[in-house]
Amino acid sequence: MMRDGPFHGRCLCGAVRVTAARLDDEISACHCDLCTRWGGGVQMGIEAPADGLSIDGPVKVHRSSRLAERGWCDTCGSAVFFRYVEDRDTGYLELSPGLFDNAGGARLTRVVYADRRPHGYWLEGEDVARIGRKSYEADNPHLSQETTP
Ligand SMILES: [Zn+2]
Ligand SMILES: [Zn+2]
Repeated sequence: MMRDGPFHGRCLCGAVRVTAARLDDEISACHCDLCTRWGGGVQMGIEAPADGLSIDGPVKVHRSSRLAERGWCDTCGSAVFFRYVEDRDTGYLELSPGLFDNAGGARLTRVVYADRRPHGYWLEGEDVARIGRKSYEADNPHLSQETTP
């Protein structure tokens, strides 16, 4: 559920400041190959509408695939956002929960590519939907090129 803010966040060094007018109360985590490498183990995101979102500071952007790009603080390296850019600009960005105190008050509700997680760790959580690669890509056909190694 989208909540009204404003929600204020920042990166590790404080050079990047984020203000979101609205922020979801749900966190999703992704174990796809791209998110695993980029996030340092797993990547999590909270949806925020692009409208009403401001991100100030030295943000660099990497086009991680045909479909999406990822932004980080160029000073300290903190992951700031993920978003779809081509043929599926959703009007939303996925912000890193860690930008906000207490993860913005959001809770983990969904783990995707759950069957692709490394064998050595597992995200706990009550009522967490765990969606495997096959069913996730069946529901999101645009993703199959995003994550196929
Ligand atoms: Zn920083
Ligand atoms: Zn992913």
